[in-house]
Amino acid sequence: MNTAILRRFSWEMEIAQPEVEQLFDTYMRSPQLKNIASIISKRLGRDLRPFDIWYDGFKTRSSIPEELLSSKTSALYPDPGAFKANLPAILTKLGWSPERAKYLADKIVVDPARGSGHAAGAAMKGSVSHLRTRISDKGMDYKGYNIAVHEFGHNVEQTISMYDIDNYMMSGVPNTACTEAMAYVFQSRDLMLLGMKDENPEKTKMETLDAAWDLMEIMGVGMVEMRVWKWLYENPEATVSQLKNKVTVTAVEVWNEYFAPVIGVKDSPLLAIYSHMVNTPLYLPNYSYGRIIHFQIEEFLQGKNLTSELDRILKQGRLTPQQWMMGAVGTKISAQPLINKLDEVLK
Ligand SMILES: [Zn+2]
Repeated sequence: MNTAILRRFSWEMEIAQPEVEQLFDTYMRSPQLKNIASIISKRLGRDLRPFDIWYDGFKTRSSIPEELLSSKTSALYPDPGAFKANLPAILTKLGWSPERAKYLADKIVVDPARGSGHAAGAAMKGSVSHLRTRISDKGMDYKGYNIAVHEFGHNVEQTISMYDIDNYMMSGVPNTACTEAMAYVFQSRDLMLLGMKDENPEKTKMETLDAAWDLMEIMGVGMVEMRVWKWLYENPEATVSQLKNKVTVTAVEVWNEYFAPVIGVKDSPLLAIYSHMVNTPLYLPNYSYGRIIHFQIEEFLQGKNLTSELDRILKQGRLTPQQWMMGAVGTKISAQPLINKLDEVLK
């Protein structure tokens, strides 16, 4: 494991890098993405431009004014203590019993964050997980709340996969992608937890379109990152300016290969935007992986008892990712369920 590439993929994700690249390549070549592009173009009433890779008009929360959401969250959560006090209530809203909710919430504390938010898991039984969230003196705004719910998902995962595992060595989940998937399961229910009803009958369809479009963007930047790091290991003497140039060139290369046919514009360097691809090597692919896993899990959870399934899935402990996924939903990690759902929606 003498490179960051091997350590990130084979060691941490327990998946070989070429396997991940193959998965991304297959998905980004899906012809369905062009259909989404034409839907977006119709909605916007113009040809697409490169920045439309961040089109967020499918997000159902966009239909509720953010000020309204923020006024609700800041009244509910004026300080970290208020959020901490409400953790058991959030858990029972999701479906856990009051006893189970107390058991989990007792092992999580809430601290004020200087950054956006963070979840630091306990490393031994008897210790607590830390939910770090940013709250200004005006209280928690919607953005902070949305992040806090995400982090809370991490903390619950951290708690179950540590306290409820028989063998300490098996504690945790296979990799960051799995813990992100769990955090998204929570985060996507943030409005429900606020008691807000989504009146949009197209919600599920919109969510599928949103997930599919988002996945293309985050896979694109992940692809740039993988190619750049491979180049960096082939060119260990590279200077800062050579690296900068390579990032831009690679971004354009990936754009022209996968995005230009979908967006209809060539030579955009936009995919070079994530600076943390340099200071935190090869983290970006985790997001795509997490979203694929999240989608598979969400699909599986439809119509089932959310919390008993989460308990069951997380109590598997730290199996290898494919084994964990087989146990969780009965199939291996794949973007196919998303493509299938997309086909249904596009019809
Ligand atoms: Zn996260």
